[in-house]
Amino acid sequence: MPTTLIEPFRIKSVEPIRMTTRAEREALLEKARLNPFLLRADDVLLDFLTDSGTGAMSAKQWAAIMEGDESYAGARSFFRLEAVIKNLTGYEHLIPTHQGRAAERILFAVATHPGDLVPNNTHFDTTRANLEVDGVEAVDLVIPEGLDPKNLHPFKGNIDLEKVAELLEREGHRIPFGMMTVTNNSGGGQPVSMANLRAYAQLLKRHGKPLVLDVCRFAENAMFVKLREPGFADRSIESIVQEMFSLADGCTMSAKKDGLVNIGGFIALKDDRWVEAARNLLILTEGFPTYGGLAGRDLEALAVGLEEVLHEDYLRYRLRTAEYMGEKLKAGGVQIVEPTGGHAVYLDAKAFLPHLGPEDYPAWSLANALYLEGGLRGVEIGSVMFGKRLEDGTETYHAMELVRLAFPRRVYTQSHFDYAAEVICELKAKAGEVRGVRIRKQSRFLRHFTAEFGWA
Ligand SMILES: *Cc1c(COP(=O)(O)O)cnc(C)c1O
Repeated sequence: MPTTLIEPFRIKSVEPIRMTTRAEREALLEKARLNPFLLRADDVLLDFLTDSGTGAMSAKQWAAIMEGDESYAGARSFFRLEAVIKNLTGYEHLIPTHQGRAAERILFAVATHPGDLVPNNTHFDTTRANLEVDGVEAVDLVIPEGLDPKNLHPFKGNIDLEKVAELLEREGHRIPFGMMTVTNNSGGGQPVSMANLRAYAQLLKRHGKPLVLDVCRFAENAMFVKLREPGFADRSIESIVQEMFSLADGCTMSAKKDGLVNIGGFIALKDDRWVEAARNLLILTEGFPTYGGLAGRDLEALAVGLEEVLHEDYLRYRLRTAEYMGEKLKAGGVQIVEPTGGHAVYLDAKAFLPHLGPEDYPAWSLANALYLEGGLRGVEIGSVMFGKRLEDGTETYHAMELVRLAFPRRVYTQSHFDYAAEVICELKAKAGEVRGVRIRKQSRFLRHFTAEFGWA
């Protein structure tokens, strides 16, 4: 039997991508001040900057777009999406938003108070920022294995239950709810087991605290559960997803990930708590409750996306993509974060560029080199993103120097990935030539988006 895992779709509409010469890329990167965020997407061959909102919609989704009901109030498209989400989550209330962070902003505004504390396996950066802006402390409690790039634990997104129990004892009065991010994006797209989620939910319940899930990649997580967790091999993805939601009281979602759409998000809540206040804020900042931050056609595309993302052949192919890239890179002597997660591969830049010191920003330098070598765009997750320049001019550096290559859904074919792996492995062979960079200009917050660099 053939073992090659094929893309479980054929292509009906294509978008050309443009090959550039190395000389052109050198000029383009100089013009972008050595910051890949400042490149024009047309000048990138394979864009692995993010898996968020970059996926391809299916023919069924495009057809559903024509069915969009753009009525201001009570649109048919809302009820269609509501039915799909009710079936998946079992939750009564749907609050659509324009993307994930808007869902966070609204829920946190109504469900937290200044001085509160929210535990999570790892807060995604917008989740953390939306808590902190309300004066809430965001506490990351992922298991220690989740912080070790070489540990092969099957569920490195799990939360440390002992630490949670201890925190509930000590700071329980400050905790309005617990959160869990599935999969754990900031921890490398690593999955959470059903057993861990159940134990966490029970622990919270014993202290009278609800559980809110950040479910951006709920389907990828369910597939990992099916493949890795004892007792789930014969279960349908839909039933695994339903069981996961049944353990919690609500969720926030960026539909730009496992919603298989280019824009969208929502809050879904099991009971009435928070609903009225959240809807009032929704009207103020997003839109009327039956469309929130979206057009009717967006709601339709999302309703279809949430059904398509459960298909097992799709999920098998999806998880296999990252695994396949990981295998190719390891065979070429490239160190990555293991095991590969659901949506991305992370290159260890310190191991790739041992001749560079922290002041050379190795992960940033590697991201630049990948562009120069083969037109690839990844994102630095290292000292430019997490370090900072202090008042006295000294720099702080991050412990890990990673380049994340995140994979858009249903966009690139196996030969695109073969090409990307080849580029990376060829670069590895001449890694000594890669030059470090220095920051020439930076902003105070989120500096990686706009910073300007020069060669070291
Ligand atoms: C993307 C993401 C968000 C934020 O969603 P946006 O749609 O980008 O606003 C929140 N949490 C996680 C885990 C994410 O991956």
